[in-house]
Parts: sequence; structure tokens; C-alpha cells
Amino acid sequence: HTAAAVGQKPLSKPMKPRLAVHKFSSCDGCQLSLLNLGEDLPRVAALVDIVHFAEAGPSDEDAKVDIALVEGSMSTPDELERIQHVRANCEILVAIGACAVSGGLQALRNGVDAETWKTAIYARPEYIDTLPTASPAAQHVKVDHEIWGCPVNSRQVLGALRDLLSGVMPAPDREKVCTTCKRQGVPCVSVTDGSPCLGPVTNDGCGALCPRIGRGCFGCYGPAATINAPALAEHMAQSGLDERQIAQRFAQINSQAPGFVEIAVAMRDRADG
Ligand code: SF4
Repeated sequence: HTAAAVGQKPLSKPMKPRLAVHKFSSCDGCQLSLLNLGEDLPRVAALVDIVHFAEAGPSDEDAKVDIALVEGSMSTPDELERIQHVRANCEILVAIGACAVSGGLQALRNGVDAETWKTAIYARPEYIDTLPTASPAAQHVKVDHEIWGCPVNSRQVLGALRDLLSGVMPAPDREKVCTTCKRQGVPCVSVTDGSPCLGPVTNDGCGALCPRIGRGCFGCYGPAATINAPALAEHMAQSGLDERQIAQRFAQINSQAPGFVEIAVAMRDRADG
């Protein structure tokens, strides 16, 4: 967890704050999840001036704002420059979604030489202007708060905005998926049918969406605060997964997140002998 999310200066302006939503390398899913707020979206719009949210309409990328929401990873040279402008133009920067907080799905390529995959995938690799790795916003600028998820839970974004508008810096939500399963009476998929499940090491945010339909957690909401990933890897091995399969479980949506990346690398190294 790279941002210093707690103990910083909360938003202090008395008038209607200005909000911008910036897109970097991403699928737009987190912006869509904001649009999916439905009838709460006009309520948000009544509380803040949304001056830049291209997916929804308003477009003023260089506007100075109180709160900037950043979706997406830093994957191109242009994005490294742009994130500096976004930081300079806002009072509080909130990274939203796996791409922005850990590099997300784009970071799956981080372990492979960029020239190798560009040549293998694209007919004209010379047109691909990319950085060697996809990285989170906090690797380049100060991030005041991070909201995990792929996509983010729009209720968590709303809660964070409400905190900021009340003059309080939001606290990170670090409850584990397992806890939600227990609360909801969802049978443990790991215990009942041996499904590999990242619930014991993952933040909740989805309401245990996958276990509720009998499927193991994919770790969308990132590593929880206190985890024992090696013990979970050992449990997966006892359930019949080999080292490479275990590495794949940890190296998915948040493959570069501290807490997940180390165990994925260790399992891959062990598989390679
Ligand atoms: Fe899309 Fe997931 Fe990235 Fe959000 S975190 S932009 S849903 S890939």
C-alpha cells in the first residue's frame, strides 16, 4: 500500500469543491462504475462541480480542482508527464481501481521485455509508444488516498468523496473477503470443494461476489493489511495446484501489488527449479 492515505490534511475549502476524473491506461471500467451510481450521481453533481469527466461529458483536462480521481496505470511516456500536471492541478489526488493503485492488468507484462512482446503481438511494433512497465500513480506522484478494485466499488468511491467533503481524510477499507463470507453465511469454497480462493489475503469491496456463486476469489480488491500468503500458497498446493498454477492465482489483476508479487515470483522460481 504505497499512498500515505491516513493522517494527511483533509479538504478544507468551504465552497462547492471542484472534481475531475482523469483517465490513464485503463479499460474505463472504473469510470463506468461511477456512472453506474445511478440516481446518486446527480446527488454527487449537486455537491461538487464536476469540471472534467470526459466519459460523462464535461471536458477540461487542465482545470484546477480540489479533488482529482485518477483511473488507469502509467504505461506511456505521455502519461508520466500528464500525471505530473494532474498532481499540480489538484489539492487531493485519489487513485481509483487496480490499474491506478497497482498497475492492474497492464502490469502483467512487466516481467517481459517490451521489445519482445511488441514484436510478437503487433504487425507494426514501431507505432507502439510504451514504457517498459505499467506502474501505479503513487510511483510517480504523491497519492492521498487509494481505492482498490477492478472495477472499484462505486459505493466506496462515494464514501470517500463524502469523507473528503466532510473535511475528513478517508481511511482505507481493509476488511478481508473471508470476513464477508462468514457474515453472509456463504459456504467456504476452499473448504467445501477445494477451490483456490484468494479470500484470506484480499480486501473486500465486492461483497464476496465470486464465493457467492461458488467460485474462488481472484483478488480484485488487492492485498489485505495482514496476510500470510505463503500459508495460503501451501494450502493451495495441498489442494492439488502446482507452483505455476499457484503463481497464476496471485499474479492476476493486482499482479504487482506488494503482498501478491513476492509469492508469485517465489512460486515461479520454484517451478523453474
Ligand atoms: Fe478497468 Fe479494472 Fe482498470 Fe478499472 S481497474 S479501469 S475496471 S481494468
